[in-house]
Amino acid sequence: MFTIAIHGGAGTILPSDLTAEKEILYRNGLDSAIRAGINILESKGTAMDAVTAAVTALENNPLFNAGKGSVFNHLGRHEMDASIMDGKNLAAGAVTCVTGVKNPVQLARLVMEKTEHVMLCGSGAEELAHQFKLPFESPEYFFDSFRHDQWIAIRDSEATQLDHSGEKKFGTVGAVACDMHGNLAAATSTGGMTNKKYNRIGDTPVIGAGTYASDSSCAVSCTGHGEFFLRAVVAYDIACLMQYKGCSLEEACRIVVLDKLVKIGGEGGVIAADTKGNISLVFNSAGMYRASFKAGEMVQTAIYR
Ligand code: ASP
Repeated sequence: MFTIAIHGGAGTILPSDLTAEKEILYRNGLDSAIRAGINILESKGTAMDAVTAAVTALENNPLFNAGKGSVFNHLGRHEMDASIMDGKNLAAGAVTCVTGVKNPVQLARLVMEKTEHVMLCGSGAEELAHQFKLPFESPEYFFDSFRHDQWIAIRDSEATQLDHSGEKKFGTVGAVACDMHGNLAAATSTGGMTNKKYNRIGDTPVIGAGTYASDSSCAVSCTGHGEFFLRAVVAYDIACLMQYKGCSLEEACRIVVLDKLVKIGGEGGVIAADTKGNISLVFNSAGMYRASFKAGEMVQTAIYR
């Protein structure tokens, strides 16, 4: 038995926003990313390798706000955040405000595996990437004209814009998996909010808020308005509801996403997996780009409610 689920962001995603061609592009992007993870799990690979591969594929796809295609910050740069966690031993790694790193999720994994730390930021994180020869790319690689127009429209104001609020392109990517050995892992990666200032950091790189994995409960990856996900400690809260209150995976996700987050005004969603073969894809927004797979079944991709 093994399972995997991925997301490509949640928000105001309505059928009227996407042409049939665009929808196919998104579905194909989700499909090829989840297959990158499935290939690893099928050959008895680890959940850790599967979530790394799936998130790397999503980072390389400019349709999603992570890696290539990340949104522009106030200075017209790409400032990316990512995190990863291993449910087997609670090992975790995260990076914030990194620029030029082709695959921030791989850098988060390096932090986890090659340092004694959990979270590195900015130039220090980039130095580690150079040290381990991770690929870097030029600003042209990360450039996307739609994201650029989004930024031009608001760059002279104080406004920041969530990639998925009222916009037609949505952001943040993530994956959760349970491998044949019964181990869980989760990973999340984002370009954050358009026109963000002051090195703003959302929930994505914060272990417990945007990402969490423990074999004694579940693996969770979040997408949505990061400030609210930080305040609600979403990923860890779901794990706690399972571990300390005995909730099922679906119950725990629904309590946090459909009740707790809604009460404080937090829009978005989560993907989650447990060690019993369950997957939950729960969101309180109009849509969430998502795909899931259980061994022996078909890949399911979906966008709208
Ligand atoms: N959670 C991300 C952030 O606040 C954004 C997103 O999920 O689209 O940075």
